[in-house]
Amino acid sequence: MGRVIAAPLLRGQVAAIIAALGSAPQEAAQVADNLVLANLSGHDSHGVGMVPRYVDAVLEGGLKPNTGVQVLLDTGPLLRLDGQRGFGQIAGEQAMRMGIERASRHGVCLVSLAGSHHLGRIGHFAEMVVASGLVSLHFVNVLARPVVAPFGGGDGRFGTNPCCIGLPVGDGNSPFILDFATSRVAQGKMRVAHNEGRRIPEGYLIDERGQPSTDPGVVVVPQSGGLFGALMTFGEHKGFGLAVACELLGGALTGGGTWHQPADDRRAVLNGMLTVLISPRLLGTQSAFEAEARAFERWLRQSPPAPGGAGVQLPGEPERKAKAMRLVQGIEIDDATWVELEAAARRAGVRLDVS
Ligand code: NAD
Repeated sequence: MGRVIAAPLLRGQVAAIIAALGSAPQEAAQVADNLVLANLSGHDSHGVGMVPRYVDAVLEGGLKPNTGVQVLLDTGPLLRLDGQRGFGQIAGEQAMRMGIERASRHGVCLVSLAGSHHLGRIGHFAEMVVASGLVSLHFVNVLARPVVAPFGGGDGRFGTNPCCIGLPVGDGNSPFILDFATSRVAQGKMRVAHNEGRRIPEGYLIDERGQPSTDPGVVVVPQSGGLFGALMTFGEHKGFGLAVACELLGGALTGGGTWHQPADDRRAVLNGMLTVLISPRLLGTQSAFEAEARAFERWLRQSPPAPGGAGVQLPGEPERKAKAMRLVQGIEIDDATWVELEAAARRAGVRLDVS
C-alpha cells in the first residue's frame, strides 16, 4: 500500500537527512530537490529510495559532502572535471552549467566528468541543457558492484550504464529526452519491485548460477554462496554494445576508470559521464532543425495507435505526464522503502516527521 507524501514535505525530510550527514543547507536542498524530481518524473528507482545508500556511503567515507568539482582542463570546447567523490547531484549540475556556458560560446563543448558520486537520473542534466537551447549526448558508467551480464555471459560484469540524448525540439515545453539504463531495467527498479514483492517478466534477469529468473531479489539480496544474479542488457547484442561504449566513454575516456575487479560490499556508487553539448544556433542549422523536427514529430504522431494502445509518445513525454500528476496527487512511497528511509534517517541522527 505505502503512503502518499506531497513533494514539498518529502523534499524537506530528505534535505534534513542529507544535512545531518554534514552537507551545507544549500547542498542538502539541491540533493533533495533532485531526488524528489526523479520521483515526480516517475523514476522511483532514482528518487528518495537512494537515500539509505547515500547515508551508508557517507558513513563509510566513500561519499564526501560539500565537495565541488575540480577543473583539471578548460580549453573552452574541452572541459575535464573531477567530481572528487562529492554528491553527483551537485557535480552534475556544476558540470552542465560550465558546459552550457562554453557550448553557447564555442558551438560545442565536451565535458568529461570523472569520479563523481551517483549522478541519479541523467535526464535531469539533459533537461538543464535543452532549456538553454542546446543538444546534449551523455554516456555514463557506474563503478559499484557489477550487476549487468555481458551478452553471452553468465554473471554481472558492469553497471547499468545509462545513455541519454536531449534535443531542444517541440514548443519549448516538450523537448525530446531519451534517458535509459542499458540494462533491460534499472537496478533501482528491481529494488522497488523486490520491496513491493513483485515478480519480473522472463528475459530480464539471471540468477547467481546464470539461470533465467523472474525474482528481482536475485540482484538485490545475496543468494546461495553469497552470490548475486545479474540483469541482462536491453536489445541483446546491440544494448550490450552500447553498454560497453558507455563504459569506455564514461569510464575510460574520462579517466574515471572502468570496472574490472571482483565485486565488493562498498556502498558508494561512482559515475563517470562524458557529455557532448552542441549549439544548433552556432552550427547554423537552428531553423532547419526546428522545422524538420516539428514535421517529423507530426508525422510520427499521425501513426494510428497499435491495437489496445494509447498511441505514439515521444521520449520525455511519460516523465512530464508523471510529473504533472504527482505534483497534484503526491508521491507514493512503498512500505519497505519507507522503513529503509526511517532506518537511514536514524543512522544519520534525525527522525522523519511527515505527520
Ligand atoms: P525506462 O525504461 O523507463 O526508459 C525511459 C526512457 O524511455 C525515457 O526517455 C522515456 O521518456 C522513454 N519512454 C518510456 N516509455 C515510452 C513510450 N511509451 N514511448 C516513447 N518513449 C518512452 O528507464 P530506465 O532504463 O529504467 O532508466 C531509469 C532512470 O535510471 C534513467 O533516468 C537513468 O538515467 C537512470 N539511471 C541512472 C544510473 C546512474 O548510475 N546514475 C544508472 C542507470 C540508470
